[in-house]
Amino acid sequence: MEELLERLLEECRPFTSMGKVADYIPELAKSDPDALGVYVIGSEGKHSWAGDCRKSFTLQSVVKPILLLQALLDNGPEVVQSQVGVEATGKPFDAINAGDRTLDSRHINPMVNMGAIVMCTLIRGGNYAERFQRLLELTGRLAGDPEIGVDEAVYRSEKSHGSKNRALAYLLKSYGLLEDDVEAVLDCYFRACSIRVDCRGLAHIGAVLSNRGRLPDSNERIFPASLARYVNAILMTCGMYNGSGEFAIRVGIPAKSGVAGGIMAVVPTRMGIGIYGPALDHKGNSLAGIQLLERLSRELYLSIF
Ligand code: GLU
Repeated sequence: MEELLERLLEECRPFTSMGKVADYIPELAKSDPDALGVYVIGSEGKHSWAGDCRKSFTLQSVVKPILLLQALLDNGPEVVQSQVGVEATGKPFDAINAGDRTLDSRHINPMVNMGAIVMCTLIRGGNYAERFQRLLELTGRLAGDPEIGVDEAVYRSEKSHGSKNRALAYLLKSYGLLEDDVEAVLDCYFRACSIRVDCRGLAHIGAVLSNRGRLPDSNERIFPASLARYVNAILMTCGMYNGSGEFAIRVGIPAKSGVAGGIMAVVPTRMGIGIYGPALDHKGNSLAGIQLLERLSRELYLSIF
């Protein structure tokens, strides 16, 4: 496996120069565009990696499946689905999914910003600091990293350049889809996006989802298998922004990308994969990262289709 990962990494490194690092959040523009790393945790517990997999970066949208999972754990699927739909929007992550008609919660999903912002309101807790703390603890368990924390510089940058997310949240509020104080909810969302991980952490999250809710090392169950099915299904249809259909054809596994360049991928029953490659394509996905996953999927017959 190590040899395969090394070879694919070298094959895909040239693609990093074809992408562009996200700069709509100034702090993200500081990432190294040439970085590329991959980490795999197999169902038998073996870890394999290549490239820049020790570099840390922020989860960004990769936190969305974790927000969804926390909301599911706290409320159950029926309540969650009554608040936010499950259909792909076919639009960018921060699109305003409203036309001249009333915004319908069935027209958003937990993998776009509007849906993820609503997920924050579904986390249980006395206040938003408590809710975020619970989310951070779940993220630490999923990533196998008890030291997990927030990148304060990215968080501040995110918060001070968050006009679009503010617009989305106020729109939700105006349509009665969000009751709480908008700034408190957004603060939780911005912090969630700014949680720091590395490729190993992403692979660990993927391994738990591939293992249907059990930790890869101890086999301890941390959430029910039915919730893994819910999250993996939404990752498959909506996880790679408005490039999810093409990704399903080219790679064929549930995955979630983020604008910092991370991709967390799940190969049900077989492995979790973590990728880092901050140079993005025009839809916001790691350009070299997708190339690497496509090749890995071909070599190891990972596609579920
Ligand atoms: N913090 C980002 C935002 O909401 C997350 C974007 C992403 O990774 O897609 O703008």
